[in-house]
Amino acid sequence: MSSVLDRFLRYVRIDTQSDPHSESFPSTSKQRDLSNLLVTELQELGIRDAHLDEHGYVYATIPATSEKAGIPVICFCSHVDTSPDVSGANVKPIVHRNWDGADIVLPDDPSQVLRISELHDLDQQIGNDIVTASGSTLLGADNKAGVAEIMAAADYLMSHKDIRHGVIKILFTPDEEVGRGTEKVDLLKLGAEYGYTVDGEAVGTLEDETFSADGLRITIYGVSTHPGYGKGKLENALKIGADILASLPKTALSPETTEEKEGFIHPVFMEGIQEKATLDFIIRDFTEVGLKEKEELLKNITETVLKQYPGSTAEIKLTEQYRNMKKILDQHPQVIGNALEAMERVGLNPVQRSIRGGTDGSRLSFMGLPCPNIFAGEHAFHSRLEWVSVQDMEKAVEVIVSLCQVWEEKA
Ligand SMILES: [Zn+2]
Repeated sequence: MSSVLDRFLRYVRIDTQSDPHSESFPSTSKQRDLSNLLVTELQELGIRDAHLDEHGYVYATIPATSEKAGIPVICFCSHVDTSPDVSGANVKPIVHRNWDGADIVLPDDPSQVLRISELHDLDQQIGNDIVTASGSTLLGADNKAGVAEIMAAADYLMSHKDIRHGVIKILFTPDEEVGRGTEKVDLLKLGAEYGYTVDGEAVGTLEDETFSADGLRITIYGVSTHPGYGKGKLENALKIGADILASLPKTALSPETTEEKEGFIHPVFMEGIQEKATLDFIIRDFTEVGLKEKEELLKNITETVLKQYPGSTAEIKLTEQYRNMKKILDQHPQVIGNALEAMERVGLNPVQRSIRGGTDGSRLSFMGLPCPNIFAGEHAFHSRLEWVSVQDMEKAVEVIVSLCQVWEEKA
């Protein structure tokens, strides 16, 4: 049996970075390198239907060991890709055994140091085995910790048929980091009633609430002239765009001024020429009312700015991105209840949290698969200081196995 650590070290060495600018699906074909390996390993465990579909999704079924009727089919899901923000090529994982709490200097770039004073939850790990990258890449614990944990749990269940559980589905998605992780998932084929993404942070955490999210694009049409003869006529779309940005609140409603349950308006992209400029924003809030208020504010700011430019116009296009999963999960309290119970059974004090972001689960929940997020132990993700502890990964494996049993017992 391959331990969760062995699996993790094997998976992070495979570069699976996704690419937001790619039009193909999955966005990078190298993601299949890991997905293919996972299929092979699942088949070696005896999971015969494990396969990679044409879009890069891995589907697999652990058959039921219980004869009880009516056990809901549950699914565990993780993503194989890593963030486009930091290189994921040639990851050299390092295991710091029985860590004594001293600063961890990463050898390939000594300016990269893990310090208890700077990284939250690290102080909980003294005496544990910490895995980091070597300083020049991310580690990829987001979300290969989750992948390794689901694989290790599958391994355990397939070799301990005395453990009673219903049908368990496994789903590994591509392209979560570029927001397309659920785009081509086939939920009918998956055939699960409830799901859990294993992509959370600290041991014992369960996330049942995400932002609701929209994208908003403002296209500004200015009045273009030869700049030598623009007096009284030229209305520069770039300057109109800059005025809109300058009119955003300075002390509120931005990522840099908000926390916890506060939402924000966040410009993420701008380009243009004097005739036409495009501004992209992401809008985030935990409630749809809050989301709409922020969108109205941005529309009002745009209108007010345009009053100074009578020949110019703007077009506003809103795109729904994802919605707070809590709305769905509240209708299925057993999904959260069973996860909390599973965590308690393995000796954890579970903590329910919200995420200031989205997960594959936010979309899956609205597509018909209620799907909160359970911890994988990953920390400082999307950075070169990313770390995970072996003990937290082992705990996550125990939670997954226990959760399968809880669903069987409660059916
Ligand atoms: Zn993730």
